[in-house]
Amino acid sequence: MSPPPSTAGVLSFEDARRIVEEHATKLLAALSDLRVADTLELLAARGRVLTEPILADRDFPPFARATRDGYAVRAADVQRVPVRLEVAGEIKAGDLAATCAVKAGQCVSIMTGAALPAGADAVVMVEHTAAVEPPNATANPHQKHVEIQRSVASGENFVPQGAEARVGQLLVDKGRRLDHALIGIAASVGRSRVAVFRRPRVAVLSTGDEVVKIDMAPGATQIRNSNSYSLAAQIEAAGGEPVRLEIAPDEPRRLRELIEQGFACDLLLITGGVSMGKYDLVEQVLAEMKAEFYFTGARIQPGKPVVFGSCGAGALARVPAVDAQPARAGAPAPHFFFGLPGNPVSTMVTFRLFAQPMIAALAGTQPEPLVFLKARLKAEVRTKTGLTRFLPAVISGKFENSEVELAAWQGSGDIAALARANCYMVIPPDRERIAAGEWVSVLL
Ligand code: AMP
Ligand code: MG
Repeated sequence: MSPPPSTAGVLSFEDARRIVEEHATKLLAALSDLRVADTLELLAARGRVLTEPILADRDFPPFARATRDGYAVRAADVQRVPVRLEVAGEIKAGDLAATCAVKAGQCVSIMTGAALPAGADAVVMVEHTAAVEPPNATANPHQKHVEIQRSVASGENFVPQGAEARVGQLLVDKGRRLDHALIGIAASVGRSRVAVFRRPRVAVLSTGDEVVKIDMAPGATQIRNSNSYSLAAQIEAAGGEPVRLEIAPDEPRRLRELIEQGFACDLLLITGGVSMGKYDLVEQVLAEMKAEFYFTGARIQPGKPVVFGSCGAGALARVPAVDAQPARAGAPAPHFFFGLPGNPVSTMVTFRLFAQPMIAALAGTQPEPLVFLKARLKAEVRTKTGLTRFLPAVISGKFENSEVELAAWQGSGDIAALARANCYMVIPPDRERIAAGEWVSVLL
């Protein structure tokens, strides 16, 4: 058996993340337009990536839309206040504006969302008006008046037709992942069905002689395969379709068979078997398969043994071909893989830090940047230097009073600690001691 590759090396967190992002960006460019599309009912497309842009099917707003309840006026008539205007009619949301027009000395009662009538160029809020009693008994009972108490400038309190978007204008570009806001936009232009990319299939391969199926009674020293499930959930949230493979024993032949099965998917995530132990065979087997390693570790805790690479030449030039319909005849499948450490917290953290960008790219969209919040440290933290740490923590308090403290945990095998935590506290590699009250980064 060949020795494990050591050339790619152990990188800082930032360098490892940069390498993943670079591969994701190249992959996204290489894959553009080659993926198979589904046309889905709008809500079923939540979390999927658009293969087509969404355009405005008419002006937005389609008419000059009042943004207040009040009176549509000619601004010139209300420059001196108070002033009394004749109420020529009423327009509520949904009424045709053409039913009323505002002439000099007049106004029209108008509701939020209604179309501004001809002649009007502003809306006075109802709060700045007062009802006027008819002047005397002989007055026309149908003629109503209102007193305007504050002047408005032309253009106030309505949105002109087309100010938000013109008919035909691009609202959402292709390659965007549909969240609730983009679904709302698609709905507003009448897109009850949308074309989206096929979800990338992400194989999950758990390794370890001690790892057993979760519906089996484990022996005294056996461990249930929880990683397969947490990863499947993370893959779905990232826009992929998990494909859970059989558990691989710590035995090279079967491990290789299962890795080959995993390479039929768009991406392979292997858990366990990447540490320095005698039975950690993943890197050796991949090296025998002529894998290229982009890194073989990151200076992080948890998750230091994480591995990223691809198998076979020119992975970036290729497209997924796992479906019945390969996107381009003869194009071999890309064999990108991550080897994630088997300890459950390490598995989750390394997925979050490194696997997500590749899944986003395979799904047809730009990777999301990692966003760090800031919170004040509740109690002093002491660590050894050299590793960027992502430690389970509890964030509480609001706005500028956000505070964070470490959750009690026994290390990266302590999956139960995650139920007590709601974030990861990020500790930079050069800090031995961080005092209570200092601002620290937090990853949700
Ligand atoms: P390894 O990375 O293979 O050295 O495994 C590190 C630790 O994670 C060991 O205690 C394993 O039993 C545990 N582990 C490995 N794979 C899994 C898995 N699929 N689910 C839960 N725990 C695992
Ligand atoms: Mg193992």
